Amino acid sequence: MLKKEFKRKDVQRARNLLTGKTDASTGTQIGYGKKIKDYKEGDVWTEGKKTWTIKNGIKQTVSKLDTIKKEVFMPLSCPCCGKIMKKRLDKPNYKIHKKCHDCVIEFEHKLKIKGEYDNYKKNLITKNSLDIVDEIESYLLDAINTSNSSFVSEDGVIEKWDGGIDKKEWSQKVKESAKVRREHLKKELNDKEGS
Ligand SMILES: [Zn+2]
Repeated sequence: MLKKEFKRKDVQRARNLLTGKTDASTGTQIGYGKKIKDYKEGDVWTEGKKTWTIKNGIKQTVSKLDTIKKEVFMPLSCPCCGKIMKKRLDKPNYKIHKKCHDCVIEFEHKLKIKGEYDNYKKNLITKNSLDIVDEIESYLLDAINTSNSSFVSEDGVIEKWDGGIDKKEWSQKVKESAKVRREHLKKELNDKEGS
């Protein structure tokens, strides 16, 4: 249940980076009891043998979101000290540092003693911008390769079909602009480390 909650929020966050909130929802029939369960944008659930979600108002299998999922996946325990990561600040810290909040505090304390903290903090901000570029790029590529054209199949599932935009051309444009931004940020990092 915990893992499910993380996925839902993280996928939503990535999407909201560019589109803002939408309130699309769909009703899905489950089991034989003709029970209707409502799912809304960003929800992730299992039905049959597949995991589903609703993205841009369209019900689809979760595999399309694998890129985003991999980026935000967090293990149960801290790779650094082995403690279970369940505190509120563990998650944002894991995303940036790949360790729990306590380990980050300890690490930063040691840097302060050595007088390396300011430089470290500046690099961290630039590295975070690099992460955001990656996140936006994978979101856009996913959006481009997911057509909004859809139809309702016989069993009531909304399915999508391709068409509309030139996927190859748009993918190229996205990759190119992400590359330019990434190179700019990497140069910034190198300049700081060299100074
Ligand atoms: Zn730790």
